[in-house]
Amino acid sequence: MSKTLYNRLALIGVGLIGSSIARAARRRHAARRIVLADQSVGVLERAKALSLGDIFTDDLAHAVSGADCVILCAPVGANEAIAHAIASALKPGTIISDVGSVKGAVVAALEPSLPSHARLVPAHPVAGTEYSGPDAGFSTLFINRWCILTPPDGADMEAVEKVRVLWEAFGAHVEIMSAAHHDLVLAITSHVPHLIAYNLVGAAADLEEVTQSEVIKFSAGGFRDATRIAASDPTMWRDVFLYNKDAVLEMLGRFNEDLTALQRMIRREDGDGLFRLFTRTRAIRLGIVAEGQDTAAPDFGRHATETDEPVP
Ligand code: NAP
Repeated sequence: MSKTLYNRLALIGVGLIGSSIARAARRRHAARRIVLADQSVGVLERAKALSLGDIFTDDLAHAVSGADCVILCAPVGANEAIAHAIASALKPGTIISDVGSVKGAVVAALEPSLPSHARLVPAHPVAGTEYSGPDAGFSTLFINRWCILTPPDGADMEAVEKVRVLWEAFGAHVEIMSAAHHDLVLAITSHVPHLIAYNLVGAAADLEEVTQSEVIKFSAGGFRDATRIAASDPTMWRDVFLYNKDAVLEMLGRFNEDLTALQRMIRREDGDGLFRLFTRTRAIRLGIVAEGQDTAAPDFGRHATETDEPVP
């Protein structure tokens, strides 16, 4: 970056996303000092060993004091308690952002607890892997991925702009929308697919006629990719479904109707109907690859190939 964006950037929660932000911020010289806070002493020790920041603490109020930007990177369900813990330590005008996969409930949890001088700019980087913790992060995670900002009514536009510049510095494309719209879009593109993967893998594990070793041995037939999604962090995903309940249930309702139609096509041996649907879904996949949101490589490989050396 030509100009350092923040004097003091505090990240609360040093897992996959928090540690990736720390790495990207360091690489892009986005902050003079990076403060890393987590409830887990083991995580902080690991973050220190990896040199992910300048200050490491489990005292959240201490972490945010003097910070000009604080990003909450813990699971969504922890945000309310974190807001309570940091509220009185924030200096006037501090930008508060987050990375939660759900936005409406996050704003509802944060807004009442934060002081009126805090400038709230919720964000959701649509990027991740099935791994957790500080070792799982990498600085290129956000490159060519979308980051959605959902500023509440009356948000400070200068703060929104600063958050946008930060994510663009990490290589992300930024889009702004309402929290409610975000939650509906992500319910169908991310939350319901995760639920289906959890269900599919759970159902296979319960099948009495098929042994566990057969499930693993023959997994390449599509099941394997579902297991990757179903290996995602249980705490994070529990919170996603609890806090985006309405949008997920709405999308699941529509999904069930489509599944029933598909069932009918199979029962009636409607080959043309099945072929038409599969042709339409294949076109969506090709569109995702064409947009650079996935690789056309046959193994779905998403490997971290970067080094974490700062760029000059
Ligand atoms: P993660 O790897 O599990 O890291 C979360 C960290 O936050 C853990 O170290 C956890 O400590 C800590 N934490 C939990 N409660 C806390 C509290 N009250 N105070 C301080 N630290 C606390 O999770 P993640 O995958 O980075 O996800 C973090 C956030 O990013 C979530 O809100 C999620 O919705 C969002 N997100 C995730 C992805 C993804 O693909 N993973 C993508 C986009 C957005 P413990 O280990 O002790 O619990």
